[in-house]
Amino acid sequence: MRAATFQAVESVVVTDKPEPTICDPRDVLVDVELAGLCGSDLHPYFGRETGLDVGTTMGHELTGKVIAVGSEVRDFSVGDEVISPFSASCGRCPRCARRLSSRCEESTLFGWVSHGVGLEGAQAERVRVPLADGTLVARPPSFGAVESLLVGDVVATGYFAVTRASPAAGDLVAVVGLGAVGLSAVLVACDLGATVVAFDSVAERLQRAEAWGAIPVAIDRHANTAQIVEEARRVAGGASPSLVVEAVGSSDAIRLAVELIEPGGFLSVAGVHTDAHLAVTPTEAYDKNLTLAMGRCPVRSILPELIDRVRERQLPIAELLTHEFPLDEAGDAYRLFGARGGGVIKGAFRP
Ligand SMILES: [Zn+2]
Ligand SMILES: [Zn+2]
Repeated sequence: MRAATFQAVESVVVTDKPEPTICDPRDVLVDVELAGLCGSDLHPYFGRETGLDVGTTMGHELTGKVIAVGSEVRDFSVGDEVISPFSASCGRCPRCARRLSSRCEESTLFGWVSHGVGLEGAQAERVRVPLADGTLVARPPSFGAVESLLVGDVVATGYFAVTRASPAAGDLVAVVGLGAVGLSAVLVACDLGATVVAFDSVAERLQRAEAWGAIPVAIDRHANTAQIVEEARRVAGGASPSLVVEAVGSSDAIRLAVELIEPGGFLSVAGVHTDAHLAVTPTEAYDKNLTLAMGRCPVRSILPELIDRVRERQLPIAELLTHEFPLDEAGDAYRLFGARGGGVIKGAFRP
């Protein structure tokens, strides 16, 4: 089968790989209908995250149809259309039981194989899904492939980053970084009735945030943090946000978030961070009485409530997907997305 594989830093190439097989009786095989191209795919692509084996199939976002089931799979059959979180989980261990599926004792992440251990990715024609009963969710009737793809990662991550702080209607919320996760946070926070100030440097992303009800603040690359904070206060009538969602995964974004936030505020870090240190000092955190939350979204734990929310509120999440690429153009798609070019907010491959 064809698969987009990691070859070296800034080199993803479509190659022929063996078909996946059922390796464990709890596995299923899925024929991939859509596979997402994610900001966190860019961490190994640009070498910010190291250790990925050469030849690993990239990608951790998928939706598709079950084509084979292991002998211990109870909840899924051949032909079922499924939503998958970006990591597998058992659904039974203590961490799964307390709604932390992303740190399941048996968790594995799609698209991460290191020293021969791990799970192949989803940017391929077919993929093996382990622990199927604890991992997958059946696609609801009103969801197409696009919605099904997006709730498995970016929308869940944005939703989680906002709702774990329980903002009330009328609260001021800032979202730093308007990739697909940040825009999802904007959508959810606006839907909850918050006033949302949204920061990015890319015009298309700011326009999308504004269309969903946020006040956009363009980050000029030459502006310093103090100038950006001043502009944010101005557009928010002098107020500071009680919740800041950081959806970039950089020290600069953390610095901006810390400078923006109101004392007693909640800093919700949705970005994947690869720096050696967190760009907030203990003194700052103490002096601002910050609550800080970080970590991988437990997608499987929150998927049922998220799906209900998207359906009930008719959240237009499908608008996030701006580009579909043939799998054979994966190399070009990575280059375009990596350069934040071509107006790509969210891309996906249709193998
Ligand atoms: Zn992702
Ligand atoms: Zn578990």
